[in-house]
Amino acid sequence: MEIVNTARVDKVGLDKKFQHLTNATIMIVDDEPINMHVVQAFLEEVGYSKFILVENSAEAVKRLEESRPDLLLLDLMMPQISGFDILTLVRAHPKLKHLPIIVLTASTDVQNKLKALDLGATDFLSKPVEQSELGLRVRNTLAAKAYRDQLAYYDPLTGLPNRQYFLERLDLAVKQAKRYGDVLALMNIELNHFDRVNDTLGLTEGDEVLRLVTSRIKQAVRSTDELSRIGDENPVLNLFRMEGSVFSLLLDRIKNAEDAALVADRLIQSIRKPLMVNGREIYITASVGIALYPNESEEPDLLLRLASSAKDFAKNRDGDSYQISSPSISAMYELRYSVEAKLRKALEKEEFLLHYQPQVNLMTGDIEGVEALIRWNSNEGGLVPPNEFIPLSEETGLIVPIGEWALNEACSQLRKWQEESRKPINMSVNLSIKQFADPKFVSSVKKAIDSSGIDSRWLTLELTESILMNDIDKKIELLHQLKDMGIKLSIDDFGTGYSSLSYLRKLPLDELKIDRSFIMDLPDNADSRAIASSVIYIAQSLGLQTVAEGVETEEQMKYLKKHRCSQYQGYFFSKPVPAEELHELLAPEDNL
Ligand code: C2E
Ligand code: MG
Ligand code: MG
Repeated sequence: MEIVNTARVDKVGLDKKFQHLTNATIMIVDDEPINMHVVQAFLEEVGYSKFILVENSAEAVKRLEESRPDLLLLDLMMPQISGFDILTLVRAHPKLKHLPIIVLTASTDVQNKLKALDLGATDFLSKPVEQSELGLRVRNTLAAKAYRDQLAYYDPLTGLPNRQYFLERLDLAVKQAKRYGDVLALMNIELNHFDRVNDTLGLTEGDEVLRLVTSRIKQAVRSTDELSRIGDENPVLNLFRMEGSVFSLLLDRIKNAEDAALVADRLIQSIRKPLMVNGREIYITASVGIALYPNESEEPDLLLRLASSAKDFAKNRDGDSYQISSPSISAMYELRYSVEAKLRKALEKEEFLLHYQPQVNLMTGDIEGVEALIRWNSNEGGLVPPNEFIPLSEETGLIVPIGEWALNEACSQLRKWQEESRKPINMSVNLSIKQFADPKFVSSVKKAIDSSGIDSRWLTLELTESILMNDIDKKIELLHQLKDMGIKLSIDDFGTGYSSLSYLRKLPLDELKIDRSFIMDLPDNADSRAIASSVIYIAQSLGLQTVAEGVETEEQMKYLKKHRCSQYQGYFFSKPVPAEELHELLAPEDNL
C-alpha cells in the first residue's frame, strides 16, 4: 500500500524538468513474461507508456538496433544468450554502446552484480523489484542520459537536435520506413547568403536571426500537421540544425513528393517574411532540396547527399525555392563535388600557375605591362583554363585562397622583373567579387605587397562591373583603401555588365578594359565601332586609360590606335605565356 502511494506522489509531484522523461522508450529483456509485465505495470503507474518487451534473448540486439530505446532493463539469467552476453555485445556495438542498461539480479548475488558492472551495466536492481526503487533508478538513469544527450545531441543556440542526432535519426527513420513500406522525405534547408547577415549585423544579431528562423520553420511544419510527425503517438518535430545556416527536416509517412513539396513551399514562404532584429527589418530567404525514400534512394547517406545537391541546385538557380532531387541533378553535383575536392588538393599541391599576356602601348608599341592569368596544371587534364574552374571556385568560396595565391605569385614575379630589368613593367591581377567581399581582403593585399617587396605603383587590380551590384558605399571605401596603398584599379570586361555612368564616376578608377566582344568585329561592324569608340571617349572624359582586350588582327589594332585607345592585348601581339618566355619579349637592355 505504502509503495503504491509513493509512486502516485512521485507521479503527481514529478518535477517539470523530469516530465519529458516519461516519454522515454524502455526495453525489457527477460525470459519470464510475468516479470516483464510486473515491471511494465509498475512503470506505467508512474507515467511511462512506451515499452518493448523481448522474451527471446537471442533477438535482443536486433530489436535494440531497430528500435533504439532510451533504456534497457536486462535480466541476467536467461537460457541461450545470457544478460552478460548481451551486455558485452551492446558495449561493443558502435551505435548502442552508450545505451543505459539496468540489470535485474537477485539481491544476494553480489558476484554477478560486480561482473555486470564490470561489463558496463549502468546500474542494477534487486529482484523481486520494488516499485519505488524501480521508479527512482529508472528516472535517475534517464535523467543522466537526457543530460548527456543534451550536450552531445543538441545545438545550444536553437535548441534543435544537431547533425549527430540527425544521422542516427535518419538511419532509424529509413529502417522504419522500410519495415512499414512508408515514403520518407528528407529535406535540406539552407538560408541564402547568411554570411552577409553575420557580416553586416554582427554575430549576436546573426544568432538571433537563426533563432527566429528556427521558430518560423517549426511553425510552418506544425501547420502542415500530421505530415510532420513521426508516428501518431509521438509528435516529435524532426527538425535538425546541421551546421551554420543549414537545417534538415525529416517527414515520414507522407504519401508522395507533392506532400513534401507542399511543406517546402510553406517553409520558404514563412522564412521569406521580414524578420525584426534589434528594431531592424531583415530579409532572408531559403533554398530547399528534397530527396525521397524509397523513390530516389534507400541508403541514408545517399539520401542526404541527394537532398543536399538538390538544395545547391535550388540555391544556384535563384534561392528562395525548392528542388526535388533527380538523377541528372545528382550526377551534375557529384561531378562538381569531385572537382571541388580536386581544386582543394590542387591548392595544397600547388598545381596552379600563372601565364602572362603583354599589354602594349598603341602609340609607342612598347610592352608596358602584363596581365596575370591563372591556369591549373591538373595531372589528369593537362593545363585547365580558368573558365573551367573559376566559376566553381567562386561558388564554393575557394576563389579566396586561390585568388590570394595568384596575387602573391604575381607580386613575386613582378619583384623578379623589377630586379632584373631597369625598365618598369606593370602587373595586372584579376580579382573576383568574392575576394572583395572577404573581410580579410585588404590585409591580404597588403601582405602580398609587403612580403614581395614590390613597388605597389606597378600593380593593377582588375575588377568586374558586378562590384557595383550592392553595398556600393562599402565597396567604394574599400577601393579607396587600395588606392591609398598606391595600387591602380581597372574595370575588366567593360560593357558586359550594367554599370551606370554616374556610379562609375564615383569609383576611384584608373582604367577601363574594353571587352573582347566589342573588339572581335572591328573594324567592319558598325555597332562594334560605335561601342568601342564611345567607351574610349567616355574613359578619356573621366581621365581613365583604356585597354582593348582580345585584339587578334592588325586592322583591329589600327582602328584602336586611330581612336586613341591607350593599350591593347591579344593574340595579335602575344598569347598569355609563361614568365620565362616573356623574359625574351621584355628584353630589358635592348628596350632602353
Ligand atoms: P579576362 O581577365 O578578361 O582575361 C582575358 C582572357 O582573354 C584570357 O582568357 C585571355 O587568354 C583571353 N585572350 C587574350 N587575348 C585573346 C585573343 O586575342 N583572342 C581570344 N580569343 N582570347 C584572348 P583566360 O586566360 O582563359 O582567362 C579567362 C578569364 O578567367 C579571365 O578573363 C578572368 O576573368 C579569369 N581569370 C584568369 N585568371 C584569374 C585569376 O587569377 N583570378 C580570377 N578571379 N580570375 C581569373
Ligand atoms: Mg582580366
Ligand atoms: Mg577581360
